[in-house]
Amino acid sequence: MLIAPRILLPQGSGRFVFLCDHASNHIPAELNNLGLTEFDLARHIAWDIGAAGVTKVLSDMFDAPAILCNISRLVIDCNRQLNAVDLIPEVSDATGIPGNLHLTDGAKATRLQWFHDYHNAVESVLLERELRGVETIAISIHSMTPSLGGKSRPWQIALSSYLDRRLTDPVLAALRLPNDVVVGDNQPYDLDPAVDYSIPFHAFRRGMQHLQVEFRQDEIAAPSGQHQWAVRFAQALVLSG
Ligand SMILES: [Zn+2]
Repeated sequence: MLIAPRILLPQGSGRFVFLCDHASNHIPAELNNLGLTEFDLARHIAWDIGAAGVTKVLSDMFDAPAILCNISRLVIDCNRQLNAVDLIPEVSDATGIPGNLHLTDGAKATRLQWFHDYHNAVESVLLERELRGVETIAISIHSMTPSLGGKSRPWQIALSSYLDRRLTDPVLAALRLPNDVVVGDNQPYDLDPAVDYSIPFHAFRRGMQHLQVEFRQDEIAAPSGQHQWAVRFAQALVLSG
């Protein structure tokens, strides 16, 4: 099925597991594109442009599992707490989402099932590694639009963290060391367990080391940029021990 999550290298030997919550702009056919145009579905509101490509390169480089959600964040946002107002957004970056208005309980239940299908896939990979006694570091890969609400974003790459900065601090230092890129530290987004779901649910709960990263979309729109930034990020991970 097209909407099943993609799992790359589920038995990968690397210590990282990559999550890509917003990998796809796919809308299941029965939702009629949520009433949006193809143009809007190609925009950042529907997915994290370039993030799936970066995730795939990182998975290959580290021989690490990756789980990629295969439905658009406009269908249901797999990185939102279940009580978040934008879990099934009625508006995204000033664009109304007609197909998300006045949902029946049955329609909501179907969306929630897709949410759980993705997170169950993540759990299956993490639990299987726990059973094998394999150490895991969870890394959540996102991308951000270069400007939002009329404000441009200088950060080419940004890390989002909460209280546990065991990995965030050394990776920030490694990214900044050559002093050739603009790196955000909890800008433009922090990691908020009241809002974000994936890292709090899968990693905080286990005390697992983790990282949440945002790549700016104009840097990773093309495969060449995805590869370059994946390599740059991978070097920072390796330098961070
Ligand atoms: Zn995202």
